[in-house]
Amino acid sequence: MKVAICPRCGADGIKIGITSLPDSDEAYEQYCCLKCGHGFMLREEDSDCQEIIRGADADIMRP
Ligand SMILES: [Zn+2]
Repeated sequence: MKVAICPRCGADGIKIGITSLPDSDEAYEQYCCLKCGHGFMLREEDSDCQEIIRGADADIMRP
């Protein structure tokens, strides 16, 4: 499971989905912190695991 550091408390947040802005082609990953419950988003290109993200995208977009 893909995780990212929560910007509020520094604990691990789990990836809960991907969303894209209506006025942009940029995709954002949505995360929810396991410790404090804070929700946050990261731009895909900011991730340090882009190959893993592409794999996840392929899974989600599979019909
Ligand atoms: Zn947190």
